[in-house]
Amino acid sequence: MPYPNPPYLPLDYPNVPYPSKVVIKNIGKIVTGDINNPIAKGDTVYIENGKIAKVGWESEVDLREAELVIDANGMTVIPGLIEPHCHVAPPDYSPITKTVDFLEGLLYAGITTVVSEGAHGPGYPKYYDDPVGSKAEAIFFAMLSKYIRPGGAQKFEAGAVVLVHGLKEEDFKEMAEAGVKYIAEIGGGGIWKAEEVNPMLGWAKKYGMIISVHTGPPSIPVSAHVAAENILNMNPKPDKLAHFNGGSTPLPWKELERLLNELPKDVKIEIIYHGNLRIAKKTFEVLKERKELNRVVLGTDQAIGLAMSWGSLWALMSWIPHANDIPPETVVAMATGNTADLFGFNRGKIEVGREADIVITDKPPASEAEDFLDALAKGDICAPAMVMVDGKIVSIKGRDYQPTERSVLINGIPAEVFDINDYLFGIPYARFNPIYLAYFNPTYLKKRFNEHFKKYFGESL
Ligand SMILES: [Zn+2]
Ligand SMILES: [Zn+2]
Repeated sequence: MPYPNPPYLPLDYPNVPYPSKVVIKNIGKIVTGDINNPIAKGDTVYIENGKIAKVGWESEVDLREAELVIDANGMTVIPGLIEPHCHVAPPDYSPITKTVDFLEGLLYAGITTVVSEGAHGPGYPKYYDDPVGSKAEAIFFAMLSKYIRPGGAQKFEAGAVVLVHGLKEEDFKEMAEAGVKYIAEIGGGGIWKAEEVNPMLGWAKKYGMIISVHTGPPSIPVSAHVAAENILNMNPKPDKLAHFNGGSTPLPWKELERLLNELPKDVKIEIIYHGNLRIAKKTFEVLKERKELNRVVLGTDQAIGLAMSWGSLWALMSWIPHANDIPPETVVAMATGNTADLFGFNRGKIEVGREADIVITDKPPASEAEDFLDALAKGDICAPAMVMVDGKIVSIKGRDYQPTERSVLINGIPAEVFDINDYLFGIPYARFNPIYLAYFNPTYLKKRFNEHFKKYFGESL
């Protein structure tokens, strides 16, 4: 699907098409995000019409066909990170913390998909037993998320319904038809007792929704203490146990052990950075021993006050390998492919046919590590050197984010950030991609501009 017009631009602004054939070559390592096959052989990813068309060696690709060639300069390619736990009201606002544009900041930091766990804000129906309000909110946000791309590119999965008394089966049908796909973490607000929510969970499943549950004691004054017994009594079972290691305080370990032992193996376990890291460590020990690390998804629970940081997912990724003796490529899968599996996204893995949401990353400057994976293993917090969504370059620098040791070359031209304004705000801003292309590839852009100019004004430039 083509992008809707980027936000904040006049609607008649020509939507200049992006090159449909894009090559990323000279890749040091391809980390796939697939926990069962975490590293792919090759040095090249070929992208056609926004999807990954080939993963392999440069010799297997005809570079002359490519309209845009990105030289990864020996760095590492990983899938765009997927954030499974954000509380946000469109377009890019968290009313409870009065945080604006944080999704855009996450995009620059390589988080190319964000999934809502329900919106927080004063007067929101989640704080009142208001079925009409709850349904309306979920539908409204689902509708908006069809058209809004924070930062002009990020995939924003909103429309998570908060369960309250009085929601009926026809409400779930109506919500599903309007694009509501998620049950906001049960207990984060609204009703939460198994006997009360079970009929609704049955309807949610019937209409294809994904169920999350707030695991543990209250995190904010209106949230509930959701104990293991209550979760085990849920039927159907939730798909994800949100902030398993506490949001921010966890359940007692005995209860968490019950959840690990008694729930089906396809229930995903969310570990968040701003939870209890001692409990995270115990959880990793158990799941590693049982070879169930495919169940782990990494999240942040932004933008509540405790969790607000664009770098949280990267920081969590660099804590796990050394503290839990888990290979860094497995950890990348926990922030990408595992999460894509949970939500059924056709992204989150470097694999033919998937949406080309890709991050090029590297060790930080002067790190004693050899490359990105080694840096993660040694506990360095890493950063993107390029963020791509659907085969389009979004940024080569996170906003106010640390640099990488190397930088990409675009059509042979080094794309380094020297200017403080670029450093602060990231280039190229997705909506300025045409300008960016003009800088890097004037011939191509002139050709495409001419096509558009003709289309809009009936004559050539
Ligand atoms: Zn919660
Ligand atoms: Zn939450």
